Amino acid sequence: MKTIGMLGGMSWESTASYYKAINEGIKQELGGLHSAKICMYSVDFDQIEKLQHQGNWAATAEILSAAAQSVEAGGADFLLICTNTMHKVAPEIEKAISIPLLHIADATAERLLENNIKRVGLLGTRFTMEEDFYKGRLIDKYTIDVVVPESDEQEIVHNVIYSELCLGKVTDRSRLKYLSIINELYAKGAEAVILGCTEIALLVQQKHTSVPLYDTTEIHASAAVKLAISI
Ligand code: GLU
Repeated sequence: MKTIGMLGGMSWESTASYYKAINEGIKQELGGLHSAKICMYSVDFDQIEKLQHQGNWAATAEILSAAAQSVEAGGADFLLICTNTMHKVAPEIEKAISIPLLHIADATAERLLENNIKRVGLLGTRFTMEEDFYKGRLIDKYTIDVVVPESDEQEIVHNVIYSELCLGKVTDRSRLKYLSIINELYAKGAEAVILGCTEIALLVQQKHTSVPLYDTTEIHASAAVKLAISI
């Protein structure tokens, strides 16, 4: 079994979901007392979040590149960045290491294409919804059309992530807001909606809506399990 490298802590609430999903996946595949071989570096999210909102992505890239090098030195065979947003600096992190990166947008796109989804809604942080590092990859590399919420709704989605979900706060009020935004994306022709922030599944799950949801934490964790047990 390969050792899975993880950059976690962004936020730790979702890293806990990754840890559980990966271990459950390995147990399901290999049975018995098997568990995942993991080498994780979990950062202090307060520092990362401040730099993000100051627009100092170069500093976040430096911190995460050094963390990724530690993970590689610790014996990881490949790397997961356990957040959609920080894939903004994935190219810099990839340059700093010699193990492969399992990109969250690639894992998601492959799952969408398996189910023949060609037009999809995207929820995530403002950075993920507005910028091209994630959306652009789905469009250019996989020809998947991406629909995002209007800007006032993007604001709501973004704020709930940072002021509630990353702090472990889950409320019915925010769930209802998210569900109404999901319905709007569906009305705009999205065949499914990507939960493109690794904390969103703490708030909204498939049982809450008939619109098909693609949870990036579950998808990324399951792709890591497959890679870890492949020859
Ligand atoms: N975990 C989130 C994501 O998947 C947001 C936190 C962060 O900024 O990394 O985008």
